[in-house]
Amino acid sequence: MNAPLFGFDNSYARLPEHFYARLSPTPVADPRIIRVNQDLAVSLNLDPDFLRSPEGAQVLAGNKLPADSEPLAMAYAGFQFGGWSPQLGDGRAILLGEVVDGGGVRRDVQLKGSGRTPFSRNGDGRAALGPILREYIVSEAMHALGVPTTRALAAVTTGENVRREVLQPGAVLTRVARSHIRVGTFQFFAGRQDLDALRTLADHVIDRHYPHAREYERPCLAMLESVIDAQAALVAQWKLIGFIHGVMNTDNTSVSGETIDYGPCAFMDTYDPNTVYSSIDQQGRYAYSNQAPIAHWNLAGLAQTLIPLIDENSEKAVELAQDLINTFPQKFETAYNVGAAKKLGLGTVQQDDAVLMTELLGTMADQDADFTLVFRGLSSLANQSSDEDDAVRALFKDGSAFDQWVDRWRERLAAESSDAVKRCVDMQLVNPAFIPRNHRIEQAIRAAEDHNDFSLFEKLHTVLTQPFADQPQACEYQKPPRPEEVVQATFCGT
Ligand code: AMP
Ligand code: MG
Repeated sequence: MNAPLFGFDNSYARLPEHFYARLSPTPVADPRIIRVNQDLAVSLNLDPDFLRSPEGAQVLAGNKLPADSEPLAMAYAGFQFGGWSPQLGDGRAILLGEVVDGGGVRRDVQLKGSGRTPFSRNGDGRAALGPILREYIVSEAMHALGVPTTRALAAVTTGENVRREVLQPGAVLTRVARSHIRVGTFQFFAGRQDLDALRTLADHVIDRHYPHAREYERPCLAMLESVIDAQAALVAQWKLIGFIHGVMNTDNTSVSGETIDYGPCAFMDTYDPNTVYSSIDQQGRYAYSNQAPIAHWNLAGLAQTLIPLIDENSEKAVELAQDLINTFPQKFETAYNVGAAKKLGLGTVQQDDAVLMTELLGTMADQDADFTLVFRGLSSLANQSSDEDDAVRALFKDGSAFDQWVDRWRERLAAESSDAVKRCVDMQLVNPAFIPRNHRIEQAIRAAEDHNDFSLFEKLHTVLTQPFADQPQACEYQKPPRPEEVVQATFCGT
């Protein structure tokens, strides 16, 4: 029997049949709700009470389908750690359908962990509870931090185990995205030299994400420019909050500019630009400081697929695309510098501000300072005299290096016209007090997996809904890990 209507309007399912495989999720033994995202459900015109009900759990586990669902697994390809994989696709995800939200934005509703598909290769089509909780916590935290991201509508346990290194409880995440179209989706068709499909996909992406591109002589070029802008802004935001995606393959790069596919992602504690969390990233390809160059590389891959759509004269098309791709480093730099100035409480961007930021980061790296706590601490200092520096100074192994920097910062602040109280408030709005610290996520996962105790998950999630607010009752969640709490490796979890 079908579940109630979700109000789906399925534009991807109207695209040609070779864009996807139509199939239903594989039912699971015993779906139980972990969490339903009340506010997100309401914004999508979905009934949160229904979603939380036993029948809702059946839908969120893929055991029952809404009557207007047209379930499908999307085809895509991708460069994984630089190597070409011509055939990836949703190996463990199924798009249930699309809803148009209260703001008129179309959003995919997708199950992740919903069983095998024709794209599963050797995988089991399932997801383990740990990675599902991680994605729920981090994606919702990113949203609260103001970073474009896929959202988590719900998580359920399946009542089944999945085999990874060891047996683990299984779970399904309901993920919401502006779309699940990736750079790798374009590469799928380019790899097959399927020009008609590329054209159809580009038209779909323009209609869906970048309708203004139609007004240009070369809409595909304008679309490429928009994707470049979106990725430059996105990766700058990641860098400014200390986020490391971990698997920036082209199949994990959304053309809408949302953060997508939370695998071995994590936030830095101590500032170190070479930080890598993913245990499979031996070369540091996706290290913190490599994320902008990698995004640039991924976008060049997208541009390559669009060459035949940009101009009949391929030399001309390559030139136009290349010129555009060359703008990425500067766009990223600008977005980053504007954000960095805000983090430092500067209302204007002056020539030497980038140096001020670089010097602070260099000192933090040398002195093992915590990225998040330093910037949050500076926010308070912006409103205080130097007697109050001690708390921030204490974050540096050798405080004298900080003293030198803070003098220069104060000189620079003196050139600002804004008043100190407002500066402090503005800084607190961009320098979070709370991030999803990796050890807290691990603790929440351990309690859930080992003791069926979701209270730590709930607590962590709740704290992270207001990352910029001082929450004195939750100050433990601000702290970096004690040495014995440091998470050694974050696995891909697939
Ligand atoms: P990811 O590294 O999670 O972005 O996944 C890369 C590719 O592997 C995608 O095509 C996924 O759908 C697929 N995949 C990952 N995990 C599984 C799994 N457990 N079963 C089937 N396919 C999977
Ligand atoms: Mg992926």
